[in-house]
Amino acid sequence: MFNPSRLTAARKRHGWTLTKLAEETGISTKSLSTYENGHQEPTDQIVGLLAQKLGLAPAFLLSEEMEEIPIQAVSFRALSKMTARTRDRGLASGRIAILINDWIESRFRLPKSDLPTLSSRSPEGAAEELRVRWGLGIGPVGNLVHLLESHGVRVYTLAHNNQDLDAFCLNWHGTPFVFLGCGKSPERSRFDAAHELGHLILHGEEKEPQGASAELEANRFAAAFLMPSSGVFAQNLRNATADRILAAKKRWGVAAMALAHRANELGLMTEWCYRAACVDLSRMGYRRGEPGGLAVHESSQLLTKVLQQLRGSGSGIYEIAQDLGLAVDEVQSYLFGLTPTLLDGGGRSSSTERPRLTLVQ
Ligand SMILES: [Zn+2]
Repeated sequence: MFNPSRLTAARKRHGWTLTKLAEETGISTKSLSTYENGHQEPTDQIVGLLAQKLGLAPAFLLSEEMEEIPIQAVSFRALSKMTARTRDRGLASGRIAILINDWIESRFRLPKSDLPTLSSRSPEGAAEELRVRWGLGIGPVGNLVHLLESHGVRVYTLAHNNQDLDAFCLNWHGTPFVFLGCGKSPERSRFDAAHELGHLILHGEEKEPQGASAELEANRFAAAFLMPSSGVFAQNLRNATADRILAAKKRWGVAAMALAHRANELGLMTEWCYRAACVDLSRMGYRRGEPGGLAVHESSQLLTKVLQQLRGSGSGIYEIAQDLGLAVDEVQSYLFGLTPTLLDGGGRSSSTERPRLTLVQ
């Protein structure tokens, strides 16, 4: 049966207005809005046309109701600068990633979330406490995506059509999700992941996560979590030059600007030295990018294991795509671009027990 909520989600994830969908399909906006508000049901032929133009299989539009992600559940970095269409595109994409996650969770037992809520602590205090709880000491955090996954956070990328979108996070019926963008350097992407972890830890479901102060708190958490004060103090960064910052930032897997900011925040650099270092770093291209930085983005350990297991039982991304009515390359884009393997389409394992995935931090 046709489901109006799915048409809306499919349209929004392209960032399309009803007018744009009307242009693409030749169907009037009036008819389209009656389909979306459920006042009229499209014929099979129209469902086929809509699906084709939206890059989906008709099955996508004919499945069960899809609850939208409420806007207030998400904290966007630059909401004031963001258009409603970009925001809706991000939310609809996140919702599709959740569909993929549901599919995976119906077949695998994934780690349960053990994220504490530390909303009464300062961002720095919460970061320190989390490091202690997770046994991270004062050293660098290796792969942040793996760390999040091993603590029950589901991490997906929103590469499809979302180059301009910042990362965001969400508590979805008790499961924490982090959605990463893909237009940034690996270092900034790590900072984004830590920033979203900050929202999840500091701004649990009981606290409104939006607004400039929440953004600032998440940034302070991310800086303290990725660059713990005692570790940075040990690096001898008093009034450091840009070159010194560049040598020291490698240890933490962060952007040069982020380490300069942290050193300044910790009182290691005078305002004058900090500004001078920022001007030099900017001149060397470190404001917009990270020249000579990490070569690759972090990827998912959990999703890699899921795909390996699926391949072992004769299925894979193709099966996810088929079951959900999505295009293979779209499914792939949510899974850190993990590559599907061509398969003969053999049957799934007959065992009803869902395999448990073991994750190593
Ligand atoms: Zn944020």
